[in-house]
Amino acid sequence: MHKVSRLPRIDGDLGWFETAPDRQIRLGKRLKGVHQFDVAIIGAGFTGVSLAYRYAEINPGARIALIDALQVGQGTSGRNSGFIIDLPHNLDAGKPDVEHDRRLYQLNTFAIERLRQFKNSLDINCSWLDVGKYMAAHEERNLSGLDSFIQTLKASNFEYEVVEGKALEKRLGTNYYRAAVYTPGNVLVNPSALIRGLAAGLPKSVSLFEESPVMACEYGSPHVLKFVGGTIKAKVVVQAANSFNEEFGKLSNRIAPVFTYASLTEPLTDKQYSEHFKAVQPWGVTSAHPAGATVRFTADRRIFVRNMLDFEPGLQSTQEGLHKAWMQHRRSFEARFPFLKSMAFDFTWGGMLCMTLNHEPVFKDAGDGVYLLGGCNGVGVAKGTYLGYYMADHMNGIKSDNLGFLLANSKPSWVPPDPFRKVGARLRLKYESGNAGGDI
Ligand SMILES: Cc1cc2nc3c(=O)[nH]c(=O)nc-3n(C[C@H](O)[C@H](O)[C@H](O)COP(=O)(O)OP(=O)(O)OC[C@H]3O[C@@H](n4cnc5c(N)ncnc54)[C@H](O)[C@@H]3O)c2cc1C
Repeated sequence: MHKVSRLPRIDGDLGWFETAPDRQIRLGKRLKGVHQFDVAIIGAGFTGVSLAYRYAEINPGARIALIDALQVGQGTSGRNSGFIIDLPHNLDAGKPDVEHDRRLYQLNTFAIERLRQFKNSLDINCSWLDVGKYMAAHEERNLSGLDSFIQTLKASNFEYEVVEGKALEKRLGTNYYRAAVYTPGNVLVNPSALIRGLAAGLPKSVSLFEESPVMACEYGSPHVLKFVGGTIKAKVVVQAANSFNEEFGKLSNRIAPVFTYASLTEPLTDKQYSEHFKAVQPWGVTSAHPAGATVRFTADRRIFVRNMLDFEPGLQSTQEGLHKAWMQHRRSFEARFPFLKSMAFDFTWGGMLCMTLNHEPVFKDAGDGVYLLGGCNGVGVAKGTYLGYYMADHMNGIKSDNLGFLLANSKPSWVPPDPFRKVGARLRLKYESGNAGGDI
């Protein structure tokens, strides 16, 4: 029997969950008693939910359990910056070749269109905005990040626009950034509202269990998952628990969980809005530097800031870490919006990016009906959606070019065990953060 020792926690005040329209609705029950399923999926984030949908589409009669330690929308899928990115992203900058980039684009846009279909058919109220995104630089030295992004875009013929100076200030409502590259295909959402809406619309053959942490796995025929006061027996187990996947004993030395933090302000007053943002549409900015800040102006007139990168071996944040993040977010926010200094943050929270060193995901048949998925490198809303979809195809013998591509490009490179991983990660993250300067 393999025991789980680290479990997800709430990690602060979860802004997107707290502001999701239906957060009071209970989507799944706690797992109690003994149950049998054909397939048990651990993790109800974008990856697990996508897999559940696709598996149920292919096998309408299959009994599927979808299990999460938290409520849906409280995990990383509900804590992120809410960008559904169509293009190969700087955090996910794997092989820089045109064919590879075009394939990633195809997979990302496939995921965006699938999410859009669900959003429309289930009428999910998640502030979905087809507004593209800006990659921006404040520091002169970080303009090189924009140049290399432009090279990638040009090489593959992706649409983009360079926006600078006054024109950029007019669009963003701040003059903080020197220049930006605007690309139109990105979508912005409240990610917690989106994942909750998706989970609420799952077909009847999928049983959702929330606040039900898997405490141990006993591999056999069937496999047995243990909970406090309950058990699931299933022939097939899918582990889609992101940074927690190593806990189930089938994955080691492939992922590096990196903590990052986000804050969301209170909404602008009508006066602040009419003085500074009247002509400004909601927007999202990622940084030209990989350790720089992500910033958004949301549809409900809040400002969102994400930055800080750290390695927490316990896979949970500390109060000290949250406070440090809050202080950095204040500095980043006030530097960009000095005229909004009086605005408070309503929420500050943390979450994990599940990184692989060569940017290839974990997409693995571990044998005997156990499948592993993860390593989304900070772009898991789209990536988790397509990984889940194509893993369901793979499990059912459905072949395609996209699946072939994923199978050929899912060999995450070796990551040293702790304490070397912890020391290496902290040094690297400190180095990157030092270089980002005013783009943090
Ligand atoms: C602050 C931040 C900003 C980000 N910004 C973006 C962005 O703008 N765009 C983007 O695409 N990506 C972004 N990411 C990354 C993105 O959130 C992830 O890649 C994505 O959530 C991965 O989805 P997933 O379903 O694989 O994992 P998760 O969303 O982590 O889902 C896994 C689930 O497994 C559950 N679980 C773990 N252990 C157990 C257990 N023992 N028993 C039961 N359940 C368990 C967890 O509770 C969790 O809900 C960001 C991440 C962070 C932290």
